[in-house]
Amino acid sequence: MPFELPPLPYDYTALEPFIDEQTMHLHHDKHHQTYVDKANAALAGTEWADKSPEEILYHLDKVPLEKRTAIRNHVGGVANHTFFWESMGPGKGGEPSGTLADKIKDEFGDFETFKQKLTDASVNHFGSGWGWLVDNGAKLEVLSTVNQDSPISLGMKPLLACDVWEHAYYLKYQNRRPDYVAAWWNVVDWDRVAERLNKD
Ligand code: MN
Repeated sequence: MPFELPPLPYDYTALEPFIDEQTMHLHHDKHHQTYVDKANAALAGTEWADKSPEEILYHLDKVPLEKRTAIRNHVGGVANHTFFWESMGPGKGGEPSGTLADKIKDEFGDFETFKQKLTDASVNHFGSGWGWLVDNGAKLEVLSTVNQDSPISLGMKPLLACDVWEHAYYLKYQNRRPDYVAAWWNVVDWDRVAERLNKD
């Protein structure tokens, strides 16, 4: 089955004023849709066409070499954006609790230190890409990836992602990526992040 664009899990205005309606429309309806279309085109006729985006990204080294770059970019774009929408919600933000909070404290010392680390990874990432909190198998880790590269391809479990492509913020924030990332914290859905941590 070809991939389909999943509907946003909330209204296009739901993340206002932090992420504006027009950006959500363009980002979801146009950018994400394009990744879906190009991923389907790249996978058509291959044995990977029926696999999930996550399974494909985990086995990127096995996909046909002549299609690998297109699959990496566009299947990555499909998975990363679905993951991104599901990482956010209206009335969210704040801080995590429970096991997730404990793990963040164990690894980074306290929540504010972690928050600064992921902010820095996102704001200072050069060019297009993503800031991530991941479970690397041994511990939590903050990192950034270029383009649509996924931590899944590095054998890691993504927990939280901040899209720092200009299309994610330029309409509202123009060149002010730090302002966008600061606003983004207000819509992070920590319950969802905790679910991912607790899932095998
Ligand atoms: Mn994006």
